[in-house]
Amino acid sequence: MTWENLNFFYTDYIEVPLPEGHRFPMEKYRLLRETLLKNNILVNQQLEKAPLADFSDLVLAHNENYIKHFINGSLPEKELRPIGLTWSHELVKRSLAAVGGFIETSEAALAKGFSALLAGGTHHAHADRGEGFCVFNDFAVASLRLIKHKKVKKILIIDLDVHQGNGNSSILGHRDDVFILSLHGEKNYPFRKVKSHLDVALPAGTTDAEYLEALKSALKLVPNDFDIIFYQAGVDNLKEDTLGTFDLSFNGLIERDKMIFEFAQKRPLAMAIGGGYAKPIDLTIKAHVNTFEVAKSILKSY
Ligand SMILES: [Zn+2]
Repeated sequence: MTWENLNFFYTDYIEVPLPEGHRFPMEKYRLLRETLLKNNILVNQQLEKAPLADFSDLVLAHNENYIKHFINGSLPEKELRPIGLTWSHELVKRSLAAVGGFIETSEAALAKGFSALLAGGTHHAHADRGEGFCVFNDFAVASLRLIKHKKVKKILIIDLDVHQGNGNSSILGHRDDVFILSLHGEKNYPFRKVKSHLDVALPAGTTDAEYLEALKSALKLVPNDFDIIFYQAGVDNLKEDTLGTFDLSFNGLIERDKMIFEFAQKRPLAMAIGGGYAKPIDLTIKAHVNTFEVAKSILKSY
């Protein structure tokens, strides 16, 4: 694997208008891309605009009416509210790009060993509704698409965002060709968790040492017969995060990422960045950048 030949996808070419002071950090995606370039972790030639997902791919994981109503702007207010974002044509485009981008990421990872979407990890979206800033479920659509096209037999989803991926679980949790490992805050949203294949709920105030020990133990319980890993590398378990309950440091997150990239043992890995809501936003950007730096340092020697 040559790092310089790997492809990465981004969605921030579509600007989504949000009301002043909205708590969703929409600018983090552009800031992350710019910082990765500035720090020479990625070069421009490696970056591609995430394409918009097709209806035919979305229906693999989503209810037709939900897709149509969201795209047309005819979803009732009570179904829009749990998503927590203001509906706009740009939001539709951006939501489609997150899924289309992760589809490309999964294909690129299969072809070259590793790829990442500089967005995504929309793990709270269910088949017939969105919630928690997630409209469509990128991992679910990409999983069902790879399986449908017989490109893989088994997918391992490792979800380390501090929030449990209830949408991943509601869509994929019953399948035996997908295995979902989720490590999350027991006191964090969603307050009603949906069963994954392996859920590890950790208490508020979880430290680096406690977290890394729990992750190490969980990885020993994961089946080894997967063809690709989808990694949700959320950094909202950082101590400074405004929506997370854990006390992880930058170093703790770096060790976490090392553990995952080493665990992959040269098998394809497709990554989405997941959540991160620290204030100031620079802390979240730094944590996401660290993940890419760890990936580069481990994967370039493959
Ligand atoms: Zn999260």
